[in-house]
Amino acid sequence: MTIGDQSAEASALYDQFVAAGTCQAILTSFQHLCDSLDIHPTDEEWFYQTLKSKLTNWKANSLWTRLDKRFNHREYAGHKACATTRVLVIGAGPCGLRAAIECKLLGARVVVVEKRDRFSRNNVLHLWPFVIHDLKSLGAKVFYPKFCAGSIDHISIRQLQCVLMKICLLLGVEIYTNVGYEDLQEPSPEVSGEPGNAEQRGWRAKVSPPDHPVSCYDFDVLIGADGKRNTLQGFSRKEFRGKLAIAITANFINHQTTEEARVEEISGDLKAETGIDLENIVYYKDDTHYFVMTAKKQSLLEKGVLLQDHRDTIKLLSRDNVDQQALQNYAREAADVSTNHKLPNLEFAHNHFGQPDIAMFDFTSLFAAENSSRAMERYGRKLLINIVGDSLLEPFWPTGSGCARGFLGSFDAAWAVKSWASGSMSPLQVLAERESVYMLLSQTTPESLSKSFNSYTINPITRYKHCNTQALKCIQVRQLYDTTEII
Ligand code: FAD
Repeated sequence: MTIGDQSAEASALYDQFVAAGTCQAILTSFQHLCDSLDIHPTDEEWFYQTLKSKLTNWKANSLWTRLDKRFNHREYAGHKACATTRVLVIGAGPCGLRAAIECKLLGARVVVVEKRDRFSRNNVLHLWPFVIHDLKSLGAKVFYPKFCAGSIDHISIRQLQCVLMKICLLLGVEIYTNVGYEDLQEPSPEVSGEPGNAEQRGWRAKVSPPDHPVSCYDFDVLIGADGKRNTLQGFSRKEFRGKLAIAITANFINHQTTEEARVEEISGDLKAETGIDLENIVYYKDDTHYFVMTAKKQSLLEKGVLLQDHRDTIKLLSRDNVDQQALQNYAREAADVSTNHKLPNLEFAHNHFGQPDIAMFDFTSLFAAENSSRAMERYGRKLLINIVGDSLLEPFWPTGSGCARGFLGSFDAAWAVKSWASGSMSPLQVLAERESVYMLLSQTTPESLSKSFNSYTINPITRYKHCNTQALKCIQVRQLYDTTEII
């Protein structure tokens, strides 16, 4: 093959990677691209640089120019700020992937484990302005040209994961799908009594399948981003209980016709009398026609969606107590009436299980972690643990705060990783700073954040308007450091 043929092949593979629309297609096309360029992410100290030097067609160059502007920030210290740090991220949801990007930019080795092998969530997220700015600066429009076009400020979870996964791979983040995190494994004692003996095992993860190579990966930072069911221990949760709130999400196929294109989106208030008593409804036109609504219990009972009334919400919404066909009719009617009957053929899109994409869930109670970080030490080996995203702070969906607060938490976690790796702060100082910043997270609104999005970095003071990184003293976070050392 001539050099010209090789570069034509690499260009074609790059185009396939950029256009890939599923998790597996992204991973496969990336592998083919790397093979054709004869490079491997784990062999390179700063993979992005090597990839950039080998892939020089005009399309790739325009992406590199955009990314360089973003990646050459001084916080990353030339991608050497965390050069000896090894990070494991649990979960390839939006917040896990966003945290992985920042840790990689700091120069760490970053491995992400994701228990699924598909990105299948059609649900559409409304994004706060800084999130849109952030994603655009990471090249989101290159990977998904429709991203936040014009006044539209939303994206499906699935598309967002695809965009973030592509950026992760270009940076050299290692992503393993079909690998579930199960538990943390403590380091083994030194075999010969010599610190750093090769046989000494560091902090590792028990994963499923158990023989996956990730089970032998020693890491110093663990980031939990596995969604609201957080599996990591040591993060007790506090509950915020409101009045009973039942949400229904429904996705209908978008046939992309002119007729459908004309139908206006709805961003919260009911504009039409639906006759089925909703507290609010949101309609976004994306890959699907996405509706999310808060329904009143009485109306669900009257329409036969809920069979029996129960005080206990778990019983009330249990499978046995829900008539699935009536639920579909209810959502279809709400969608039809709220869009003034302008959406023809309301045909359900399919979910992960090949079933009509409709779900009903309770969001009466929301949970937030008591602490965002902790640290452990065994046999001289230290581990920093952070949780981010829904694991840290479950969002109240009508405010669209999920990804915004999720990304802020991911940046804050990356800042803690940087402080941890610098060695200039003690573990307790890192934890005290991280928890001081976490105190601000649940209060953030688009208005309370700095408007200077161009200045946003992982340093919290560039984002939160009133940020005291020393609000808590080391003594107040002492319980978050589990160590055999005398401190
Ligand atoms: P998730 O998206 O839950 O991802 C977690 C990942 O971890 C998943 O891929 C999962 O498979 C994986 N995982 C789980 N366990 C393991 C394990 N043991 N090992 C390995 N992998 C594992 N947010 C907005 O910003 N705007 C909105 O408008 C909005 N609307 C919403 C509407 C509704 C109805 C709901 C329910 C939520 C809404 N949200 C919205 C919230 C948003 O969806 C979440 O905040 C966001 O998806 C959280 O991302 P995450 O990465 O923390 O977790």
